[in-house]
Amino acid sequence: MKVVENRNELNNTVADLRSSGRSIGFVPTMGALHEGHLSLIECSNRENDITIVSIFVNPTQFNDSEDYKRYPRIIQDDIKKLKRVKCDFLFTPSKDEMYPDEDKREFDFGNLESIMEGAHRPGHFRGVALIVSKLFEIVNPHRAYFGEKDFQQVAIINRLTKLLNLDIKIVSCPIMREKDGLAMSSRNMLLSTEQRDNVSIISETLFDSLQKKKILSIAETKEWVIRKINENPFLEVEYFEIVDSETLNSVNEWSQVVKITGCIAVQVGNIRLIDNIRFYS
Ligand code: AMP
Repeated sequence: MKVVENRNELNNTVADLRSSGRSIGFVPTMGALHEGHLSLIECSNRENDITIVSIFVNPTQFNDSEDYKRYPRIIQDDIKKLKRVKCDFLFTPSKDEMYPDEDKREFDFGNLESIMEGAHRPGHFRGVALIVSKLFEIVNPHRAYFGEKDFQQVAIINRLTKLLNLDIKIVSCPIMREKDGLAMSSRNMLLSTEQRDNVSIISETLFDSLQKKKILSIAETKEWVIRKINENPFLEVEYFEIVDSETLNSVNEWSQVVKITGCIAVQVGNIRLIDNIRFYS
């Protein structure tokens, strides 16, 4: 694995690889890697000749500066993990490399900006779009891999590639979970032992809600999930929305569309966790 910090060096390397006919898979991350990230890399390895991973804690997507400061940065551990899977290039740019000047671009993501993560984290998706569009320009991949854990982010990236008319296939990969069901996340390592012992209620409740679908309406299911999680003194639901999996618009009846997803954000002390569940098979 070659570690590259310079954007031009990576861009030139990729140009050479592409002209020799090699396919390029790209996995953008913010590091503190776990099995969820590694599953995206494995997926890229299956579908491409070359896999490029980036690690960059992107300041523009944090609407909370404390969250940015606290975000785990453990690059040496990450490198060890990457050496155990096949990763051809690791791109670790500095802040100046990615943002030499202020990037003033704005994007129109329509309804996606005003719901769920868009509503609760103002500016977050603009920051995601800024960094992903810059990374796409540098890495110029054939395919890019994103986790369904960040369900709304996948929709944003799909819209971004359309807006920018990019010839990049966006591949979404399933959520990887801990043994007790907790969705893997770099932020999980920030939880105290006591918090960690309680957060499995989030995914447990989401999975139990699949059964509730048979007897409760959408409004009742939402209420049930929120109440069950909020009963735990460590957890506070920020939102739980049941949406059309394609448009991400709210649905009012189970029969309204076939593909329905429940998306949740929960505050655990000062740590914010997200997860989601499919109400279809
Ligand atoms: P992050 O480092 O949190 O920005 O995540 C980088 C990529 O890994 C994003 O596409 C995430 O959706 C994905 N990812 C994070 N957690 C998981 C997980 N538990 N399962 C699958 N993919 C994940």
